Amino acid sequence: MSPSADASCLFCRIVRKEIPAKIAFEDERVLAFHDVTPKAPTHVLVIPKTHVARLSDASGDHAALLGPCLVALTQIARALSLDSYRVVINDGAEAGQSVFHLHLHLLGGRAFAWPPG
Ligand code: AMP
Repeated sequence: MSPSADASCLFCRIVRKEIPAKIAFEDERVLAFHDVTPKAPTHVLVIPKTHVARLSDASGDHAALLGPCLVALTQIARALSLDSYRVVINDGAEAGQSVFHLHLHLLGGRAFAWPPG
């Protein structure tokens, strides 16, 4: 796997710092940045630096990237003093996925309905 290998992928371009983003967390495997059109007072996207188009494509080595993403997300939530928040992965267009680089939405700072719309 080569990190951020997809030349045209928006989030790979953010990983490569070709497109600016407000970075919330970064280590060798994970990048997190604030959503450009937030759906809650706090809305951070957590991504593996390696390009994986969607959750259902994650297998083998890719699957091992999910744990670090979740751990990073909990650290970010703690750093932002969120003690209640929603974590969302949209997998596929019908589920609402618009950027095809696997990402976790960390949403907080307001109440959330259940079930989601
Ligand atoms: P999804 O619809 O689950 O694929 O989520 C994609 C998210 O990426 C949306 O919430 C967008 O607002 C967000 N987004 C798109 N472009 C950017 C960008 N350049 N910087 C930060 N967030 C972005």
